Amino acid sequence: MDSSIRDIGAWGDIPARLIRLPELAYNLFWTWRPDMQGLFARLDPDLWEAAEHNPVRLLRETANLPAAAEDAGFVDAYHRSLRGLDSYLDRRGTWMGHVYPGFAGPVAYFSAEFGLHESLPIYSGGLGVLAGDHVKSASDLGVPLVGVGILYAQGYFRQRLDAEGRQQEVYEPFEPEMRPILPARDADGREILVSLGMPGRELYLKVWKAQVGRVSVLLLDADIPENMSEDRQVTARLYGGDSRTRISQELILGVGGVRALRAAGLRPAVFHMNEGHAAFCVLERMRERVAGGTSFDEARDEVARRTVFTTHTPVPAGHDAFSPNLFREFAGSWATSLGVGDEELWGLGHKQESWGPTFNMTVLAMNLSAARNAVSALHRDVSEEMWSYLLDSRDERRVGRSITHVTNGVHTWSWLSQEVGDLFDRHSGGRAWREMVQEESAWSFIEEIPSGELWETHAAVKRGMAKFVNVRLRLQRERSGSAVPPQEIDPDALTIGFARRFATYKRATLLLSDPERLRRICKDHERPVQFVFAGKAHPADSPAKEFIRALYRAAEDEDLAGHIVILEDYDMNVTRHLAQGVDVWLNNPRRPLEASGTSGQKASLNGAPNFSVLDGWWPEAYNGRNGWVIGEAREYASQEEQDAEDAESLYAMLEGEIVPLFYDRDAAGTPRGWVGVMKEAISTVAPRFSTQRMVRDYVHKLYVPQTARTR
Ligand SMILES: *Cc1c(COP(=O)(O)O)cnc(C)c1O
Repeated sequence: MDSSIRDIGAWGDIPARLIRLPELAYNLFWTWRPDMQGLFARLDPDLWEAAEHNPVRLLRETANLPAAAEDAGFVDAYHRSLRGLDSYLDRRGTWMGHVYPGFAGPVAYFSAEFGLHESLPIYSGGLGVLAGDHVKSASDLGVPLVGVGILYAQGYFRQRLDAEGRQQEVYEPFEPEMRPILPARDADGREILVSLGMPGRELYLKVWKAQVGRVSVLLLDADIPENMSEDRQVTARLYGGDSRTRISQELILGVGGVRALRAAGLRPAVFHMNEGHAAFCVLERMRERVAGGTSFDEARDEVARRTVFTTHTPVPAGHDAFSPNLFREFAGSWATSLGVGDEELWGLGHKQESWGPTFNMTVLAMNLSAARNAVSALHRDVSEEMWSYLLDSRDERRVGRSITHVTNGVHTWSWLSQEVGDLFDRHSGGRAWREMVQEESAWSFIEEIPSGELWETHAAVKRGMAKFVNVRLRLQRERSGSAVPPQEIDPDALTIGFARRFATYKRATLLLSDPERLRRICKDHERPVQFVFAGKAHPADSPAKEFIRALYRAAEDEDLAGHIVILEDYDMNVTRHLAQGVDVWLNNPRRPLEASGTSGQKASLNGAPNFSVLDGWWPEAYNGRNGWVIGEAREYASQEEQDAEDAESLYAMLEGEIVPLFYDRDAAGTPRGWVGVMKEAISTVAPRFSTQRMVRDYVHKLYVPQTARTR
């Protein structure tokens, strides 16, 4: 057992027969194991829900341990879970070991957010969930990888909607001791503390470790007594504060992250920066080389050769950039550390904007990485065009000019419902498909599943989702004091889900463009349709908050009551229920602004086909039979024209294709044509858009070539 788990204290009450329960709780392997979640739920069902499925809090607070130790059924299930964890961790023959036995790694994967589970709220949306899914698949595949991120003491905010539909941001400080993380330790077993220079002072960081199967994620935390009170707040909130907070957090992630790796005794072979937030890691790595006698130019090239950069943002304004004054104040001293003048340092990230010169984190990342990728084929084209001036000017032999792409995927086991997974096991003649998720051939059994059975399984999951939604709607209404009558969704009606961050380009309100037409679609007595929305707006994004209010008003409109509902406090738990339980997943961003998107992949995997603009990953997946398309893949004269045409297409597809197909039933009540689309969605999307495929692509195309280049 990890000695730190035993040492952590306050575990005095674990009965001897269940002594390894904390070990199960502290390895986030349980986040993708329904049997282990079932074990925790069985221990104390109410507390498991109240504790947001957080087993560490559960074990610390439950009074049921003595009884569980006497319950033979529980003890049996406990031993089964332990065997599951042990055999996963002991497995020798991993994919990576087989294909690249000489690759020692590790890969250091830097990300400002990690979406591993709702009980560790250090993510805001798709970027973080992608990082979490990347780590989980790296563990499954045996890729030697270590994550580096930040422990935000208050996480991302919790969303409440008041009786007018206004978003309230609630911040709840959380105690790290109550979360499934432990202090990281160095080779001598001491807790790791690193520091870095901030203007006029030194900032100290405690390092925590989230264990995710075989992979560790190091999390930096400034909220410790070594820092003055103002500095303790620097890592309080994800995407909180002003530009001073932002540059501080990015120095913490980049520079503090490299120091944490060193303190943990790690010398990564490759540094992977997930988005530009982490790009300051190159400064510290250059400093190490310059301190050892390497020239600035050489250090820059050496660092670039070991660096992979993934860009996620197709909008120029979406990239982090700092003013000359701010940069000088926070990062100016790096010129001395790197043995150069201010100009050379500034030149690493300089970007001239119409309003003046800036230090741009994406430019820094592009300049200091020899391998770069976008997150879908379409996004690669957009990114290459956006950065062509930078790439074209570069010396091909030094750092290369192109951007490749690795299309995003999802971690199958974190997103597939247990019921549907069990159905697959029954019809695949074994569990082989689980080992070969990324192979399309491994999914051919889907076609053979009797339509009625797939439909019934989906209907059962959907009833569970409707119950979840209806309970939350009731609680929301009680809390907000809304005067409108209670709303419920109907588990038999065609149900369309839309849940994601409410950034305006995602156009959550496109559906409301023509209220009369929407009303006709929803309120057909024979063929009713309902929409479930959920999503947070960034606290500073007023237009996005207006979108929430508009949806809230539509949901309260007597005429549409129960046909449009909006859930508060979107998180991974909400995503899971909706993506697993709805019939269709709606995605209507303004093309080409969605770099990839992944929520539609989660839904498709569960048999809820994607209904989407041809943006992000969808052009690579859509085959005419596995979902539906909104609008056209072309450019428009204006946003207004694009929005109007997409809205028209959205309604027309619903009226002409989606609703009729859903309600076309055989004598047994099964929509056979619809189930055909479900099957096609599962078997085409599940393999290619899994992180099991994606992480292999990163290994083949980026990690391994990168180390070969260095040798
Ligand atoms: C999957 C997921 C996303 C990504 O949603 P997109 O529709 O791809 O933007 C965002 N947030 C959470 C919590 C998710 O689980």
